[in-house]
Amino acid sequence: MRKKHAFTCIHCPLSCSLELVEEGGVVVQVSGNECEVGRRYAEEEFRDPRRMVTTTVRVRNGVIPLLPVVSTKPIPKPLVREAVRTLADVEVEAPIREGQVIYRDILGTGADMIASRRLDCND
Ligand code: SF4
Repeated sequence: MRKKHAFTCIHCPLSCSLELVEEGGVVVQVSGNECEVGRRYAEEEFRDPRRMVTTTVRVRNGVIPLLPVVSTKPIPKPLVREAVRTLADVEVEAPIREGQVIYRDILGTGADMIASRRLDCND
């Protein structure tokens, strides 16, 4: 039986409304996309949706108490919540360099979490 799935392409400001039709897990058709990027996006969202992780970790001895961190690549969407929970228990010591690896291979995804900014010591 054919099923329809709706997505909104996030790759440019046009935000095309995409419709993917699949049958038994096999993509039959993608429509609504103005370009090839949208077709690929709909297929990725159907097969293996991924997201970048952005959150904060606690900092000891820093000018501010929280450090923004970002993943080096998107991770599977179902793991994002667990990744954020894992990082909630992480505390690092200032000073921190922008781009410094804060947590390696989050949940075995191959993505590292890195500092989004520099953070100096509080002295
Ligand atoms: S399908 Fe193409 S034109 Fe439409 S939002 Fe995505 S990138 Fe932009």
